[in-house]
Amino acid sequence: MDALENAGRLPAVIYRECTIYTILSPCSMCSGAIALYEIPKVIIGENTTFTGEEDWLRSKGIIVDVVNDEECIGMMAQFIKEHPELWNEDIGI
Ligand SMILES: [Zn+2]
Repeated sequence: MDALENAGRLPAVIYRECTIYTILSPCSMCSGAIALYEIPKVIIGENTTFTGEEDWLRSKGIIVDVVNDEECIGMMAQFIKEHPELWNEDIGI
C-alpha cells in the first residue's frame, strides 16, 4: 500500500505495465489493491514469515514470483523483533 501511495496518482495504463516488488508476501488488502490496479506481475521477497494471497493473485492471471531471499527474511525477523506490536496488529496473530 505504501508503494502504491508513494507512486502517486498515475494513469491506469501505467500500473498495467508495472511490476511490484514486495519484501513480504502481500496480505489480502495489498493483494486486492494489486488486482484493482491491474498490476500484472508481483516479485515477492519472502513468504516463509507469512504467506499472503498468492494463489488468489495467480487466479486473477497475475504473475507471482517468490524469491525467498535471505535478506528479506532477515529484515522481517528484525522488524518483528523490534516492533512486535505492529506485527501483531497488522497480521493479527
Ligand atoms: Zn498488506
